Amino acid sequence: MHVLEARTNSGAHEAEVARLRDAYAALPPGAPVRLAKRTSNLFRFRDAKADAAGELDVSAFGHVLSVDPVARTARVGGMTTYEDLCDATLPHQLMPLVVPQLKTITLGGAVTGLGIESTSLRNGMPHESVTELEILTGDGRVVVATDANEHADLFRGFPNSYGTLGYSLSLTIELEPVRPYVHLRHFAFDRAEACMEAVSQIAAEGSYRGHKADFLDGTAFAPDELYLTVGAYSDVAPWRSDYTGQQIYYQSVRRDKEDFLAIRDYLWRWDTDWFWCSRPFGVQKPMIRRLWPRRYRRSDVYRKLVALDRRYGLSGALTRGRNLPSREAVIQDVEIPVERGAEFLRYFAANVGMSPVWMCPLRLRGERSWPLYPLKPGEVYVNFGFWGTVPLPAGLRDQADGYYNRLVEDEVSSLGGHKSLYSTSFYPEDEFYQLYNGEAYRALKRAYDGDGRLRGLYEKCVRGS
Ligand SMILES: Cc1cc2nc3c(=O)[nH]c(=O)nc-3n(C[C@H](O)[C@H](O)[C@H](O)COP(=O)(O)OP(=O)(O)OC[C@H]3O[C@@H](n4cnc5c(N)ncnc54)[C@H](O)[C@@H]3O)c2cc1C
Repeated sequence: MHVLEARTNSGAHEAEVARLRDAYAALPPGAPVRLAKRTSNLFRFRDAKADAAGELDVSAFGHVLSVDPVARTARVGGMTTYEDLCDATLPHQLMPLVVPQLKTITLGGAVTGLGIESTSLRNGMPHESVTELEILTGDGRVVVATDANEHADLFRGFPNSYGTLGYSLSLTIELEPVRPYVHLRHFAFDRAEACMEAVSQIAAEGSYRGHKADFLDGTAFAPDELYLTVGAYSDVAPWRSDYTGQQIYYQSVRRDKEDFLAIRDYLWRWDTDWFWCSRPFGVQKPMIRRLWPRRYRRSDVYRKLVALDRRYGLSGALTRGRNLPSREAVIQDVEIPVERGAEFLRYFAANVGMSPVWMCPLRLRGERSWPLYPLKPGEVYVNFGFWGTVPLPAGLRDQADGYYNRLVEDEVSSLGGHKSLYSTSFYPEDEFYQLYNGEAYRALKRAYDGDGRLRGLYEKCVRGS
């Protein structure tokens, strides 16, 4: 889509904005508001029927409005998935500066909920390449917020607000030029300390052992078995791997030293097996994998299966029926300063014991911090992602969820880290607002949702109400 097409799209977009504003104004006062979206990557499951009364149909905001290949920018509907966004930009040899790994994460979701990817050491987080945000605010206005206008506070407070101040209807973002292939090298480490030192070195030098680090992430199978995957843009590929078929990407990290992927395949390398989370569905067993249709080897399909399981309590019933220990879901992404990363990995292995763990180094792109998720400018962090369930210790089997999650939350705080809020959290309210800048949040809430039509950040992210 070219910039010339933007005018037509723009007229239709303005009409949809007006329609949505009217629909929001017409919702019964006090009704909980919810986005009616086809997909979600959130890991807080709620009874969708309970708040159907306040559903907002936002399907009109799921498209790319325009791509300007000369200015290297795109104007994008807030509910557009990264899969659709990249399909619109890649034909111009461009992509967003940070592309989260799961195809159905939306631009609005990644900006309000904080995304991260293997370009995050170079390019920071998705919100740092947004130049303009069009937002339906909680008090029913539609405002355009930039870093320099009268809504600059909202622009800077929108990341990590999780739709509690308003909904982004369109966003203008910067794009970066890509090459057709990514040349990957997987480096093995037998000590977490050595792995974290390599991350610091790459952050300082932009390459590792002569291999340019356009992309960097890693996989820890144990504190003594870790891999960093360093990716460099490439114009040539002596061969191309395919991880949408029988081969499984995370297993290749352990096996191969070097690899080539087409840029689109690189972007979605983790999606086919939802990192490694497709394992419980049997999809990684060769026989089942052959039978499982290729088009259903996608993260959104697995997530829907998990949502169904949570709804009908199937795996819980099986666990109880077989008298197995109850399990706690520990689904988190946390950011730890790189100097403390090895400590975190050792603590996690000893106290939670889930494997593998995804490692994604990041550093803010700009000089300023973002109020609701106060990472320090210039500091290198490593995002550790772990998604699964763990058996509860014998004495705690009848206790409510939260035992392992609280351990992780406390350790993250003691190491000077931060925790993403897309999943369950268990902080007491005062601790939560100390960590996520309650003062700035409350001021924004008063200014843009004075009557509290949208739920507050704590109610939404911790109480999950
Ligand atoms: C297994 C797993 C792995 C993950 N891995 C990654 C990863 O590698 N990289 C990464 O970046 N993230 C990752 N995530 C987290 C994911 O980015 C967040 O959950 C993100 O918020 C999901 O966005 P979504 O577009 O699916 O939005 P949804 O799940 O639909 O919504 C998320 C929240 O954002 C709000 N919201 C959605 N759209 C808008 C909007 N337009 N304006 C305002 N508020 C809005 C919703 O109200 C909701 O509170 C992972 C999550 C899981 C479960």
